[in-house]
Amino acid sequence: MESNAVELRRISKSFSANGKVEKVLNQINGTVQTGAILNILGPSGSGKSTILSMCNLLLAPDEGEVYIHGKEVRKWNIPELRQKVGIAFQSAPMIPGTVLDNLMLPANIHQMTIHHPEQYLNKVGLPTSMLQKNVQDLSGGQKQRLALARTLVNRPSILLLDEITSALDPSSVREIEELILSIHKAENTTILWVTHDLEQARRVGTECWLIVNGELVEQGTKDEFFSSPKDDRTKQFLAKGM
Ligand code: ADP
Ligand code: MG
Repeated sequence: MESNAVELRRISKSFSANGKVEKVLNQINGTVQTGAILNILGPSGSGKSTILSMCNLLLAPDEGEVYIHGKEVRKWNIPELRQKVGIAFQSAPMIPGTVLDNLMLPANIHQMTIHHPEQYLNKVGLPTSMLQKNVQDLSGGQKQRLALARTLVNRPSILLLDEITSALDPSSVREIEELILSIHKAENTTILWVTHDLEQARRVGTECWLIVNGELVEQGTKDEFFSSPKDDRTKQFLAKGM
């Protein structure tokens, strides 16, 4: 059994905008062990979302390689990769229609037949009776649960979470955290969780990375990260928050 769920080797990525080339990731090296909950922290614009996008090949690196369960991403069959590596965003994008339509979206794409779709709703704490409800009538927290349920339909072994609680009220934030922890516990899912909330990282993570200006400046267990950071940029970051 491959023990690293994700491995990044010397990843670099640039974007060009308005005729200028901006290097947004610079030689990132990092490994995420199977079953870890990694919090990816860093100032806005530091490259966190770009890192997640490379793990399911929404973006390819310019240089370096990304390995998922020991196999380089570009060697994966893309639908298979995206079944294994689920992603959820702050915005929880939905198609117009019912909860069921949205829940079945990845199953339709991958031409799977899902029996008992309500089990996925129940997994995220939504009642079966909600299947026929219009998604427009859901609260923010319910939409985020549905987005997670939709990702879980594929039974991913790795979950990429990009600021999924940023738009939620504090009690929904806690509920989503509990939900992710219960999924992690039940399935030993590896989780890469981008958050700007340091308290959230303290509550849910096992490991932390700090990204500053496209560089991975600190990586360690949560305890090491918060109690004995090595890099000055981490000390500054922890002292002043975001
Ligand atoms: P973070 O998630 O840490 O806020 P991002 O990874 O989204 O940061 O972005 C890092 C940098 O790359 C930012 O300066 C952003 O403007 C730029 N960027 C991200 N995606 C694109 C893109 N598709 N085209 C051009 N620039 C981009
Ligand atoms: Mg981002």
